[in-house]
Amino acid sequence: MAPATAAEIRARRRNARGRRLQNFDRCSANQAWFLPHCMQPHALAGENEGRESHPSFHSRQPIAAVDQFFDSCFEIAYDRIYLFSLTMKTRVFSGMQPTGNLHIGNYLGALKNWVRIQNDYECIFCIVDLHAVTMYQEPAELRAKIEEIAALYLAAGIDPKISAIMVQSEVAAHAELAWMLTCVTPVGWLERMTQYKAKAAKAESVGDGILQYPVLMAADILLYQAGIVPVGEDQAQHLELTRDIAQRFNSLYGETFVVPGTSLPAVGARVMGLDDPEIKMSKSTTGTNHAVALLDPPDRIRKIIMRATTDSNPAVDFEKAGPGVLNLLSIYQAFSGESDHSMREKFTGMRYGDLKKQVAEMTVARLEPFQQRYRQIVSEPGYLAGILREGAERVRPIADQTVRVVKERMGLFVG
Ligand code: ATP
Ligand code: MG
Repeated sequence: MAPATAAEIRARRRNARGRRLQNFDRCSANQAWFLPHCMQPHALAGENEGRESHPSFHSRQPIAAVDQFFDSCFEIAYDRIYLFSLTMKTRVFSGMQPTGNLHIGNYLGALKNWVRIQNDYECIFCIVDLHAVTMYQEPAELRAKIEEIAALYLAAGIDPKISAIMVQSEVAAHAELAWMLTCVTPVGWLERMTQYKAKAAKAESVGDGILQYPVLMAADILLYQAGIVPVGEDQAQHLELTRDIAQRFNSLYGETFVVPGTSLPAVGARVMGLDDPEIKMSKSTTGTNHAVALLDPPDRIRKIIMRATTDSNPAVDFEKAGPGVLNLLSIYQAFSGESDHSMREKFTGMRYGDLKKQVAEMTVARLEPFQQRYRQIVSEPGYLAGILREGAERVRPIADQTVRVVKERMGLFVG
């Protein structure tokens, strides 16, 4: 397919938006039923005035059906069904664990896309510290990491006036809803999770938190009735489980939760380890040449990328390239936003040493301004604490309202 021109891309965006709004009109005419708290105007903040109400979602769309709608222009790919059900009021929820060092996989797979969509939806970006403690964390280090992640969100371009940035453990409803959802989740569903199986296979004994983690993740999302959850590909299975849990609850107790859709980036959804391109780049994977951290200095970034594992071919051949080379190419493409066509023109026949230099320079160029902003943010005393306090205050009423509805539906005591 020929790469889209900038004008075509803009036209496609306009059309998609037009279709979304038309679809909203149809939904609101046909569906009298809305989730109770979605009817509250401006639930998240004053900035969202004038946005439409949220139509309910009933359909279930398997993750396999996520379409790369705009793959040639680096838009985010939504499930087909949700693309046409999205409205300005649709809520977005996503988060990262405050463990280890955030890396370019976290940025390209999630954070970068959060920034891109924050003006179009009502966004909540969470620092999921309750997930972090499923493994032992040194308490002082964990506290410091929470602030570091908040600063990284801001440095990436999340605007706290538009989006809420909050810490999971600051809103007690996350843990409360997790228990209620645990009670409707068959243990077999949790034992099937790939991440659980991988972690359980490595350890002699596994904490219950590792098994329960996806239920807490479901609670994080369902608590805010999020319609979109932008994550990397590794979280797709947990999102599928979230939908299963939401649907099970809805069928047991009546329609309560929005069944969320997924959004994966067209490029960068799964950045692989630079030392081993067969495994996903992860904060928790050790190895000096595994990942480029967002706060790594330029020299270290260059060193790690120059040592990246490739294959035995001498130069780039898109048809024969091994996973290491494809990983380097997709990192370059995700940072630069270039089309497939221009990637082929630029890199076909390039020797691996030169490819690595190009990827390293692109990464350094993208991360340098980001790191400058980070240093500025952390140099302002009290700024981060204020952002996090305000974020929690903004979202708490939404979360409390969901818990209240869930308690009512389940027959629990509501005073
Ligand atoms: P950990 O090893 O602690 O689980 P992680 O690197 O997997 O660390 P998370 O905090 O679990 O990071 O994930 C944060 C977000 O980053 C999620 O949306 C996840 O899907 C995304 N993500 C994580 N790793 C990658 C990757 N290699 N490529 C693309 N996206 C990723
Ligand atoms: Mg992870």
